[in-house]
Amino acid sequence: MSAGITIFSQKAFHTFEQCPLKFRYVYRDGLAWLREDHFRKNSAQWAKRGRDFHLMAERYFSRLPLEKFPSAFPEGQKWLTSLREFLPLREEEIYFPEHQVISEGEISLVATFDLVRLHGGRITLYDWKVGERPLKPHVLRKNWQTIVYLVVAEKESMRYFGIEPKGLSLVYWNPVIPDSPVTLTPTSASIKKYQYRIHEIASQCKDVLDGGEVPPNTDHCPMCSYRYCCTGEPVGEEIFEQDEVSRDDEIQWDEITEIPF
Ligand code: SF4
Repeated sequence: MSAGITIFSQKAFHTFEQCPLKFRYVYRDGLAWLREDHFRKNSAQWAKRGRDFHLMAERYFSRLPLEKFPSAFPEGQKWLTSLREFLPLREEEIYFPEHQVISEGEISLVATFDLVRLHGGRITLYDWKVGERPLKPHVLRKNWQTIVYLVVAEKESMRYFGIEPKGLSLVYWNPVIPDSPVTLTPTSASIKKYQYRIHEIASQCKDVLDGGEVPPNTDHCPMCSYRYCCTGEPVGEEIFEQDEVSRDDEIQWDEITEIPF
């Protein structure tokens, strides 16, 4: 009988891909999530900015007052201005900020959208990626967040938002570099491909949850915060010096709501 999670998130799939043993520690054995970005340079500062920006955007799209927003960082107002220019509020549009959607079925999935925008019979999902590095379309196109979010939205848009998933797209936007959003518009063929990938990885995850063999991925060990469990060695200084590629593995603060899944 399976132990652990029954609903999968993009974070669970991403963790499985990093290392199946790490997935087992977190999602089957119940070890607490250790936030690896704590080990990285400036991460606490960026996590705070990310948290503030997400709250600011949530207030903005909820049409709540923003004048007194207690932003703890100097760029706050500039980012808000960029957000207003990027997505001005329109009477005829409907906004669902910070919306969690659960899609139940043979493989149950969860997605927490930063924003769902309904406009002109179309549905657009937004994800805020706050950081100093530009967004990378080739990375975003194939990451688990894109795959899970688009599959969940395609299946559940009618049930949750009363709209057919025609014209569905996903936009990643970074307020630090506001003129370079990345827009992904899936075709029905790409949705099918995504569904297939989810089936594949979910069945591997289920094997691990059922107590099956767990092949570790030792390539991930140098940057894994569970290293102590496997080798008895604490995470070393090298993690402070991670290069750009491995920094793509950082936990984004907004993934925290999906971490229980
Ligand atoms: S230390 Fe290595 S083998 Fe152990 S969980 Fe982390 S990545 Fe996997």
